[in-house]
Amino acid sequence: MALMLLGVGGAAAATTTVEIRPFVAAPDGAPVVDRAWLVARVERANAIFAPYDLQFVLGETRPLAGPTDAMVRADRNALARQVERGVVNLFVVGTLMDIHEPGRIRRGVHWKARHGGARVRCIIMAAYAAEGILAHELAHFFGNPKHRHVPGNLVGYVPGLGLPTLDPDQAQRMRRSLRRSIASGELVPVTGDRRPTSPAPSTPR
Ligand SMILES: [Zn+2]
Repeated sequence: MALMLLGVGGAAAATTTVEIRPFVAAPDGAPVVDRAWLVARVERANAIFAPYDLQFVLGETRPLAGPTDAMVRADRNALARQVERGVVNLFVVGTLMDIHEPGRIRRGVHWKARHGGARVRCIIMAAYAAEGILAHELAHFFGNPKHRHVPGNLVGYVPGLGLPTLDPDQAQRMRRSLRRSIASGELVPVTGDRRPTSPAPSTPR
């Protein structure tokens, strides 16, 4: 997939890159998704966020030392307690259920919790989440909690032509949220020449 590395309007803008660190549930030792599953979702997110000067690298996969399914609020909070600083924490579980509507299956959520007095945030996705779900949850993560159900909007569910997009006000909130996260140390931008989906340089494949 070709990446647009120029900002909207063709002006070269400074692109910020942050790491997505995946924690993958492995009930009975078998991970619920493989590396290619993760790469495909990060590449999709990179294609969608390129016009907004935000890119992601996929960090080394970590085993998930928590619930392998997120059925109730306590499961989500248990996952959030593993959040590591400086990166977007992505927890991939076997099954993710809605916590308000019994029996409703969810594919992804942006989850906020408190851990050790601090506010922590993460993305939780189910192993059956389609490729576009990560980018949608990232839009929530970066300052856009509300859905906008217009065709092609990244924060809605109504498909449009081409890649989903953010409206100008949503893009502005995304940039503000990114700046705040960096200022607070919640996120530390990736520097150097790490390729968008490569693991950390010191990590053997
Ligand atoms: Zn949503």
